[in-house]
Amino acid sequence: MSKLRSGLPYFLIRNGLPYTYPKLQQDISTEVLVVGAGITGALVAHALVQAGVDVVVVERHSIGTASTSASTALLQYEIDMPLRTLREQVGVQVADRSYLLCARAVTDLLALSRSLGPHTASARNSLQYASRPRDVSGMQQELHMRQAIGLPVEWIDASTLRERFGLRKSGALFSRCGAEIDPYAFTHALFQQVIAAGGKVFDRTQVDRHARARNGTYEVRTSEGHRISAGHLVMATGYTSQDLLPKPVIDLDSTYAVASQRLDREELWSEECLIWETANPYLYLRTTPDRRVIIGGLDVPFKNAKRRDALMPRRTRQLTKAFQKLFPEIPFEPEYSWCGTFGKTKDGLPYIDQDPRDGTWFVLGMGGNGITFSQVGAAIVRNAVLGRSDPDRDLFRFDR
Ligand SMILES: Cc1cc2nc3c(=O)[nH]c(=O)nc-3n(C[C@H](O)[C@H](O)[C@H](O)COP(=O)(O)OP(=O)(O)OC[C@H]3O[C@@H](n4cnc5c(N)ncnc54)[C@H](O)[C@@H]3O)c2cc1C
Repeated sequence: MSKLRSGLPYFLIRNGLPYTYPKLQQDISTEVLVVGAGITGALVAHALVQAGVDVVVVERHSIGTASTSASTALLQYEIDMPLRTLREQVGVQVADRSYLLCARAVTDLLALSRSLGPHTASARNSLQYASRPRDVSGMQQELHMRQAIGLPVEWIDASTLRERFGLRKSGALFSRCGAEIDPYAFTHALFQQVIAAGGKVFDRTQVDRHARARNGTYEVRTSEGHRISAGHLVMATGYTSQDLLPKPVIDLDSTYAVASQRLDREELWSEECLIWETANPYLYLRTTPDRRVIIGGLDVPFKNAKRRDALMPRRTRQLTKAFQKLFPEIPFEPEYSWCGTFGKTKDGLPYIDQDPRDGTWFVLGMGGNGITFSQVGAAIVRNAVLGRSDPDRDLFRFDR
């Protein structure tokens, strides 16, 4: 699959190309090589350099311009699969831990963003409304289950939902844990800190082959024939990683997003919380620092980029209508629309594991929580490289 996105992704337009990075033009060796410079590669590299590890990052295109630039970047602890369903699929312990790790990742990402300097993220509460009245009883079970493990969630009934948020729905789960981020600016800001701390970041440098030598070192070859030797190899190669994996684990969908014109603060919904729903696929909404509304959703299984892109004009109209139906009082004119391909897994959880064949690490955040999972993955990889024991090491294995 060549192109992960099309159209005019708002965050790419907003930031342009804020920094330039060199291309690798010689052989090099390093303690850790990270392949892929989207938000995942940035988080992994940043966690490692902060721990004093020598890191090189290589990216075949421009930094952050694949899925990361298309992301609508709602940061939520809520995994695409409700806790009650996830418990049935993967067991109570893994399900509960996954939810709790995502909640911690949201807090950690906000703290990280604050430490970077430029404003790249804002804390936001998260509201999931009942798409149909019959969803309410399952949501209330979900509420009690989440509250029992300490997640900050409460119930909002239909009349409060109408008065406080202007939403005419039967009820909603309201979580005081979430954030919205500018994923592209955040990625560049992380890489600037990686470089300032001594890490090296190269773009236009494609890895073609890798193998592990007898002494345990990884020998990597770029498409221009340069060699990179590394003590550890981390693939943060996103949704195009399927061919590198020990087994097929990624299902691809196409998703669509629209950003509106700028609005006045009083025109937006209360608290500008993140909004999503119980339907599957679901609509998702957020605001931007310059007070636009972004609405996304209407996912379909990915066939090829041409078919995905052909649907964009229709999806823009449908998302605009969906917003107008949800919030008839808020004016919405579509200004930027785009689409992207994203990977899902059967249980909504990521793959963060070593390839059993040669020990290469993969950090593959999946589904609606791709970014929070990347943060979880960065901590797992950092602990492994530092030789620290980690109770979460086996949670997201390929052989689960
Ligand atoms: C429209 C849309 C909306 C989304 N909304 C959300 C959301 O609200 N919340 C959320 O958490 N997640 C969301 N996601 C998912 C999230 O965007 C992804 O999980 C995240 O961007 C993945 O980042 P990444 O760095 O792993 O992948 P990418 O950004 O795709 O980066 C991988 C990089 O690896 C490089 N690469 C691959 N192979 C090689 C090679 N051989 N050599 C060198 N470089 C290589 C690629 O060029 C690419 O730049 C959304 C995704 C889309 C498309």
